[in-house]
Amino acid sequence: MNELQQELRAQLEKYCKASIEPHMEHDDHAENFRMEIFNELGSLGFTGITTAEDYGGMGLGYQDLCVALGEIAKYSVSYAVTISVSSMVQAILNEFGNEDQKQKYLPALASGEEIGAFALSESHSGSDAAGLKTTAKKVEGGYVLNGTKMWITSGGVAKTYIVMARTGEEGPKGISAFIVRDGMDGFSYGKKEKKMGWKVSPTRELVFENCFVPAENLLKAEGMGFTVAMAALDKGRITIGSVAVGLSDRALAESVKYSLERKQFNQEIFNFQGLQFMMADMACEVESSRYLVKEAARLYDEGIPNQKLACMAKMKATDTAMKVTTDAVQIFGGVGYTSEYPVERFMRDAKVLQIVEGTNQIQKVVIARCLKKEFSN
Ligand SMILES: Cc1cc2nc3c(=O)[nH]c(=O)nc-3n(C[C@H](O)[C@H](O)[C@H](O)COP(=O)(O)OP(=O)(O)OC[C@H]3O[C@@H](n4cnc5c(N)ncnc54)[C@H](O)[C@@H]3O)c2cc1C
Repeated sequence: MNELQQELRAQLEKYCKASIEPHMEHDDHAENFRMEIFNELGSLGFTGITTAEDYGGMGLGYQDLCVALGEIAKYSVSYAVTISVSSMVQAILNEFGNEDQKQKYLPALASGEEIGAFALSESHSGSDAAGLKTTAKKVEGGYVLNGTKMWITSGGVAKTYIVMARTGEEGPKGISAFIVRDGMDGFSYGKKEKKMGWKVSPTRELVFENCFVPAENLLKAEGMGFTVAMAALDKGRITIGSVAVGLSDRALAESVKYSLERKQFNQEIFNFQGLQFMMADMACEVESSRYLVKEAARLYDEGIPNQKLACMAKMKATDTAMKVTTDAVQIFGGVGYTSEYPVERFMRDAKVLQIVEGTNQIQKVVIARCLKKEFSN
C-alpha cells in the first residue's frame, strides 16, 4: 500500500468505526439504509474515487478504490457495494457518456449527494443477460421503455439508473443503454427483496410502463448497450473482489481474537492445532485473493486490463470470503451462529458475492473462453 492508500484506509477506518459499526447490528435487523452515511462518505471523497476531479471526483485509480472498498467492507458490505455500484455507474458515464451527460450526472454521483444504480438483470435473463426483454421503442424525441428489471442494488434510493433495454434485434447487438432518472413518468419501483444478507442495501425491482426517456439520455449509440454493460462488469468484478477481501480480513481478525480469548479444556482454543491450521489456511487464502485483486486493479490502472485475471480475482476472492466467513462461524462455535457476534452476518453477506456481477460459474465460462483464445492463437 502506498502512502496515499494508507491515508485513505486510516481515514475510513476512523469513520467506519465511529459512524457505521455502531449501527450495523440494528440496521441489519431492521434492513435500514442510512442515506446520511452515504452522504458523509461522499463528503470525505469516497463516493467518487475514480471519477476525474473536473467532475467532482478524486481522480484516483482502481487500486485506490479497492483499498477503500476493502476497508468499508470490514464494517459493512452493504455500504461498500452501494459505493462499488455507484462508482461503476460513474465509470460508464465517464467512458460512454458525452460531455453534456457527464456534466449533468457525474458531479452529484461523485460527491455522494446521489447514488447510481445499474439495471441489466431481468427475471428470465440473469446469466444470459443478452436475452433481456425490456423494450425501448423509438418515438419522436426519444424512446418509450416497457419491462421490468430484477434485483437492482440501490433500487429506490438511487437517482440515476443505467438501464439496458432492447431497441433492435434479439441478442446482444439489439441492446441499448439509457440514463433513467428517479421520478420519470412511467418509472416505478416494485417490491423490495427480502434477502439472506446485504440487508442494509436495498434491492428492488424496477418497473417501466410507457416510460418516456428523451433521446439525449441514450448512451453512445443504439446497439451499444451490451458493450456498455460488459465493460462495466469487467471493472465491477475487480471491485466486488476487493469487497470480498475486506470482508475476509475482518472475519479472520475476529476469529484470531476470539480464539485467543475463549477457553476450553483449561486453555485458549487458539492452542488447538486443528484451529491453528484452519486459521493458517484462512490467512493464506485471504492473502492470495488480495494479490489477485490488486494485480487485476493494477493492470486496469495501467491501461492493460486483463479480463481473465479480473474474473479469477472475483471468483477467488468471493469463494474465499464464503469459506473464511463460514470457518469464522465454526471457530466461534455456538455463539458464532447467534447475532451476539457479527460473524453470522459476515457469512450471510458473503454468499451473494459469489452470485452478483456474474456468478462464479460465469467467471469460469469467461476464464475458459480466454484460455481457448490464448491457446488457439
Ligand atoms: C442482492 C443482489 C443484488 C443484485 N444487484 C444487481 C444489480 O444491481 N444490477 C443487475 O443488473 N443485477 C443485479 N443482481 C442480479 C445478479 O446479477 C444475477 O442474480 C446473476 O447474474 C445471476 O442471474 P440469475 O439470478 O438469473 O441466475 P441464473 O442465470 O438463472 O443462474 C442459476 C444458476 O445457473 C448457473 N449458470 C447459468 N448459466 C450457466 C452457464 N453457462 N454455465 C454454468 N453455470 C451456469 C449459475 O451460475 C447459477 O448457479 C443482483 C442479485 C442479487 C441477489
